[in-house]
Amino acid sequence: MNILVTNDDGIFSEGIKALAQSLMSMGDVYVVAPDRERSAAGHSLTLHHPLRVEEVSKNHFSVDGTPTDCVNLAMNGILPFRPDIIVSGINKGANMGDDITYSGTVSAAMEGTLLGIPSVAFSLDTRKDFDFSVASNFSLKVVKKVLEIGMPKDTLLNVNVPHLSENEIKGCKITRQGKRVYGDAIVEKVDPRGRKYFWIGGDDLGFEHVEDSDFQALAEGYISITPLHLDLTNYSSMDELGTWRF
Ligand code: MN
Repeated sequence: MNILVTNDDGIFSEGIKALAQSLMSMGDVYVVAPDRERSAAGHSLTLHHPLRVEEVSKNHFSVDGTPTDCVNLAMNGILPFRPDIIVSGINKGANMGDDITYSGTVSAAMEGTLLGIPSVAFSLDTRKDFDFSVASNFSLKVVKKVLEIGMPKDTLLNVNVPHLSENEIKGCKITRQGKRVYGDAIVEKVDPRGRKYFWIGGDDLGFEHVEDSDFQALAEGYISITPLHLDLTNYSSMDELGTWRF
């Protein structure tokens, strides 16, 4: 088995090291990942400047681009074969609900799916004191299953793991994408030269109570697996829009 591992926290993140380490028991692991943190890069692809690739150690390549660039370059230049599976993560922080659209971790798996390779994204729901052991053990189980059974067509798996010990975790739920409650996430301050600046992010945000959602599963102590697809069409609104007279 050839396994391509990538992430958006950068090739030196503990999360990708734990993931690659754990998957080595499954086959040959190749790491192609950004040379620095590219969290919230979304599904962006670099078109207007060249990309440099460096083999930092055997089968480990850093790219000065986005997670999407990494998957694209791995498939179309770096690896001499098509991988059997692409695994992205383990991200430092959850990727659930609306946040998925910003996520570089999930976007790398999207890129893999677009290129026809079964792809899975893993994220750990904490912001500090990261312990990747439970998530990396679970990644092995998921990858085994995907390789054994195959992935539903045009689908990727978005896996979020609570930051709990093995025996505190209640199990695993198949979930739907939840809904964020976005608050006042912009911080406005003044720099030492008297100019205003803004900083996006900040507080832990809430989520709406949606039954069977990713947020709900983690709040209850379960690992969440959400099957995602890249067709963003809102089918239920097609009929209604059809009645508008353009
Ligand atoms: Mn990240």
